[in-house]
Amino acid sequence: MSGGSGSTSQRAGTHLETLAVHGGEPEAGYGGAVVVPVFQSSTYLVGEAGTPDQVRYIRWNNTPNHEVLHRRLALLEGGEDALVTASGMAAISASLLAVLQPGDHLVVQQSLYGGTFEFVWRFLPVWGVRVSWFDPVRPETLQVALEARTRAVLVESISNPLLEIADLPAVVEIARAAGVILMVDNTFATPVNFRPLEHGFDLVLHSCTKYLNGHSDLVAGAAVGSSELISSIRHKLMLLGGCLDPHACFLLERGLKTLVLRVRQQNRTASVVAGYLEKRSEVRRVFHPSRDGWGSPRGKAWFGGYGGMVSFELEGGGETAAKFMAALRIPKDAPSLGGVESLVTRPVITSHSSLKPEERAELGITDGLIRLSLGIEAVEDILADLEQAFAAL
Ligand SMILES: *Cc1c(COP(=O)(O)O)cnc(C)c1O
Repeated sequence: MSGGSGSTSQRAGTHLETLAVHGGEPEAGYGGAVVVPVFQSSTYLVGEAGTPDQVRYIRWNNTPNHEVLHRRLALLEGGEDALVTASGMAAISASLLAVLQPGDHLVVQQSLYGGTFEFVWRFLPVWGVRVSWFDPVRPETLQVALEARTRAVLVESISNPLLEIADLPAVVEIARAAGVILMVDNTFATPVNFRPLEHGFDLVLHSCTKYLNGHSDLVAGAAVGSSELISSIRHKLMLLGGCLDPHACFLLERGLKTLVLRVRQQNRTASVVAGYLEKRSEVRRVFHPSRDGWGSPRGKAWFGGYGGMVSFELEGGGETAAKFMAALRIPKDAPSLGGVESLVTRPVITSHSSLKPEERAELGITDGLIRLSLGIEAVEDILADLEQAFAAL
């Protein structure tokens, strides 16, 4: 880090808990400050040497607030470099546009986050990229989907909203053998539960809006990978303009400090809640990787935990689901996820509303599906709340 702040801290430790708090912070601090302050300045002095790579500007994502985040996220995911962006969709769209050229072919998993689904199926084809899908539960379908012009494969480490974990070892083997760029949206897992770069993935994408920030008070994204890949995405992002505001950088860095504590508690709460729901007669089906028969055992072996999401389907469909959600007192009825407060939503009216009914049916997203994002409240209070909401049906 230039600009008089001295070198990056060498004392940042090696464990995730320590890296989340200190990773990438400047050794000497800024003006003696213990935390990295907000640098609310769009432009910076060029200095005596005056080379183009020393120019700092918010849209270039290279102010001190950006750079501490880049170093910290690279350390947390185990990548050479990282880039923060104005939203998760900015990270996903800029990465795909950096990797793909018109004429290329992209393979994606069948079920994707709603915004990503629309971007790859409605925008990329107009831009001259052909797209195919594969079923991550049957990785042999990936082999079939690959073509000579396939440039990249995009998967989600835990799918949304059905929380499936694919046979990721098979996906990595097939993609490596084909020499394509393997991209993974790791938003639901976080590096606390799964570090894809250690297992052969090339690029990790995040909506930092969710667990990485964890407080439902900003929108941000990130890409982590090799210096070469990140530098090409950085260049694309400078042109597309999806830079992260310094104040949002500051909040994201603060949120990251408690990432490990939050996610471990959310892992525990979600597993307990999934077990509770499975025993209720009002529940037709529970979707959570801790349940037997849900998710690939080979894929799950790469995970240290499954995050704070639980999806379930009630007997009685959409109307019963709406009634149940209205009766809940702790989880707020709102889209998004990964914050300290529990949220509950019906994917059919939020995250997957832009899909056609037949597209949703094919993915198994029914009108009665409820997606619960567990926060860090006491699990006893959550269970009591679910109990009284069932009683109100
Ligand atoms: C929310 C989300 C996104 C999009 O992120 P934004 O920050 O809302 O742009 C992408 N992927 C997944 C898995 C998400 O949950």
